[in-house]
Amino acid sequence: MQIRAVIARSAGQPLTIESCDLGEPVAGEVRLKMEACGVCHTDIVALNQDWPVPLPAVLGHEGVGRIEALGADVAGFEIGDRVLVSFGSCGQCKNCNNHAPGYCDNALLFQVMAQRLDGSSPLSQNGEKISGHFFAQSSFATHAVAATRNMVKLPDHVPAELMAPLACGVQTGMAAVLVALKAERGSALAITGCGAVGLSAIMGAKIAGCDPVVAVDINAGRLELARELGATHCLDGNASDLKKQLRKLGGMDYVIDTSGIPDVLGTGFDVLRARGTLLTLGVSPPGSQLPIDLGSLLMSGKTVRGSIEGDSVPKEFIPQMITYFEQGLMPLDKLVETYAFDDINTAINAAVSGAVIKPVLLM
Ligand SMILES: [Zn+2]
Ligand SMILES: [Zn+2]
Repeated sequence: MQIRAVIARSAGQPLTIESCDLGEPVAGEVRLKMEACGVCHTDIVALNQDWPVPLPAVLGHEGVGRIEALGADVAGFEIGDRVLVSFGSCGQCKNCNNHAPGYCDNALLFQVMAQRLDGSSPLSQNGEKISGHFFAQSSFATHAVAATRNMVKLPDHVPAELMAPLACGVQTGMAAVLVALKAERGSALAITGCGAVGLSAIMGAKIAGCDPVVAVDINAGRLELARELGATHCLDGNASDLKKQLRKLGGMDYVIDTSGIPDVLGTGFDVLRARGTLLTLGVSPPGSQLPIDLGSLLMSGKTVRGSIEGDSVPKEFIPQMITYFEQGLMPLDKLVETYAFDDINTAINAAVSGAVIKPVLLM
């Protein structure tokens, strides 16, 4: 069928909305009429070609839509279901079978190369292939063919624009605290970098009962928002005595970094208590190294680790987040700003400049 899609044609250039051809869903896939899709940092990383997504490509990986057609072997979904699509995973490798789909052996194929396992794409234009399986969905379009493996049903009463970010950005921050770290009540947690992922980690820390919850950022507006969402302390990331201030709070059991800046990670490591964990969620420039003291790593029994999507299993964790949302524990409206489909470039620019925490396109 003919659809309209946002196409990325060259690195860092404005996106264009064009007609293209969407093929039929294959086994395990469905066709969706899209309602909304969030703009995530990874879309910008791909657009700038810091990740080598083959162009032309349709990005977008926080899609909410309604099922219009079913491929073969689709279980648990019907035509008419309203769904949210998370990241791609194969369901066949060791990590997929071990409750860790974020570390799928084929993750790069879906999330970076934007193609199916067999290398094909459901999208084309005048016979030319368009990368159309980004995060197993390519949701910046009126319609998408998406994999059901990490798809979750949405009730009709929840707003599309607030649910879309649960697919990636919000999931990453919330699950970092509640799944990857399993932070205990009363544990001391700091978050360096308060964008959509960091602020979601703060919401998660409040639910977990962490105390203190320390927000660190260089933007005063974001720190204010962090306080509204549950941060007990807000610190200026540019302060020359930042390390001292964090130590004065007794040190941290957990530091979650979303900045990806090696020096910030180094500070996070230094302020950990014995047996504390530094968890990185940020995308660093290629070749970045972590400046940590190996003596302190050994003698204090510290842990340094990364996490993709907060180690979430979307089919379990997204319904959990929807429950938190319904209980009023996730004021997502404080993060989200909506844009019309045609205003995709304005939405991207708002995310790049930091003017908006989480832009969401409405189709
Ligand atoms: Zn896999
Ligand atoms: Zn993302």
